[in-house]
Amino acid sequence: MRIAEIFRSKQGEGFWTGTDSLFIRVSGCPLHCGFCDTAYASWKIDRAEELSCDQILTRVLAEETEHVVITGGEPMVQTGIVELTHRLSELGRTITIETAGIAALPVKCDLMSISPKRSNSTPLGAPEEVIRRHETLRDQKQIVRRLIADYPYQLKFVVDHPDDLDDIDGYLTALGSVDSSRVCVMPMAVDTPSMAEKLVWIRPYCRARGFYYTSRMQLVWFGNRRGT
Ligand code: SF4
Repeated sequence: MRIAEIFRSKQGEGFWTGTDSLFIRVSGCPLHCGFCDTAYASWKIDRAEELSCDQILTRVLAEETEHVVITGGEPMVQTGIVELTHRLSELGRTITIETAGIAALPVKCDLMSISPKRSNSTPLGAPEEVIRRHETLRDQKQIVRRLIADYPYQLKFVVDHPDDLDDIDGYLTALGSVDSSRVCVMPMAVDTPSMAEKLVWIRPYCRARGFYYTSRMQLVWFGNRRGT
């Protein structure tokens, strides 16, 4: 698998916020979202190493974390993730996969963290071909429905403006059959002041619908730093 970095930290987002975890960040993502905060692992790749499953597991075994988070980049487009997750499961690890919900593979997973990419993710200003690919790939409801049916999940939306909330409502209606307690809404932010400003309108929206609002606690704990 092409791996951008492996590091130990705390999960900063979603249901398992605060959980000590080993993060395996795969390299490469076909989407190129405008707000991507891991471009170095997605399309502006400055370092990545090709590691076998055994090599990754050696790194995992060197840590004592029960939780392993496979993130990206986009993990679900790397076929090596199938063997990796099955072997992690045999080792008794609890596995989160963070995906945009654009591909499905027969992985083992305890929490499928799906972050559908909405219209606010369009990479405005990017070359036309990049925008076209992003718009073609980003919204694949049939795959999201399949992941929801097959795994314990959280459905995590990134919002920047109050108008984005209407977009979530429309998406969920079109998707159908989503447990509202599995929906998370998270501010688009790379610093704590802008995150706090957005939580002012995110919180009441979530409370009214029974959704979960999630901060990006890694910004509070570590700042906007790589490897956290
Ligand atoms: S799907 Fe995620 S990793 Fe890929 S470009 Fe978008 S924000 Fe970045």
